[in-house]
Amino acid sequence: MLPTAVAATLVVTAAGITMAQTAAGEQRTTRAAATVLDLDATQVVAVREAQAAEVATTVEIAERRQAAVLQTSAVKGRVEAKQRAARVAARKAAEEKKRQAAEKKRKARVAAARAKAERASHRWVRAIRTGLLTSDFGPRWGKTHDGLDIGASTGTPLYAMSKGTVILSDEVFSFGNKVEIRYWDGTVSWYGHLSRRDVRTGDTVMPGDQVGLVGNTGHSFGSHLHLEIHPTGGDNPVDPAPWLRQRGIMVG
Ligand SMILES: [Zn+2]
Repeated sequence: MLPTAVAATLVVTAAGITMAQTAAGEQRTTRAAATVLDLDATQVVAVREAQAAEVATTVEIAERRQAAVLQTSAVKGRVEAKQRAARVAARKAAEEKKRQAAEKKRKARVAAARAKAERASHRWVRAIRTGLLTSDFGPRWGKTHDGLDIGASTGTPLYAMSKGTVILSDEVFSFGNKVEIRYWDGTVSWYGHLSRRDVRTGDTVMPGDQVGLVGNTGHSFGSHLHLEIHPTGGDNPVDPAPWLRQRGIMVG
């Protein structure tokens, strides 16, 4: 025991270092589990420094652990965010693929419907359902008869033979009421002597649309349809009979 104003007792235990300060000369008890040392002032300072260093180390370790935990958590968060983003992207890609497939199907349906409609609009039908061929194409009365005459009673409906545009609907000398239709293939048909016209110039017609009625107007002796076919569109008539036969729409 050294003669100092203040002495200290250092108790070293298994759990660590603790220090109890005592007054000089105080009676001390020696514990079975601890080693009790008597220290002078210098030694006390050293011990305190050691303690402070240990505390600092402990704090530092705790801080490092905390930082490591935070870092791990941040990394985990980033990984999870990436995984979420990947899942979202995969779902979106699947949805887009599905949408594209549906769109492709829809376009195919539209194209098929359009093709079907076009085939339907390009079919050929009879100008008149029933009639009697009364005059052929060719020489007649010293000049050329430019079409067929098909006898039918006044008021019998006349139809567009395919899809086309009405390029003339008017009363014309000798033809009487006349309707000209230019079809999708460029052929022009002339219908003459109508009792009534049901279309106007510029109208679009579809196969079988009614365009007028059989009559006896203009230079005509008896109710009939005068039908001419101009394949090139100009005033260049051909015999309608073979042309009609080729399309399966010959009358009489
Ligand atoms: Zn005629």
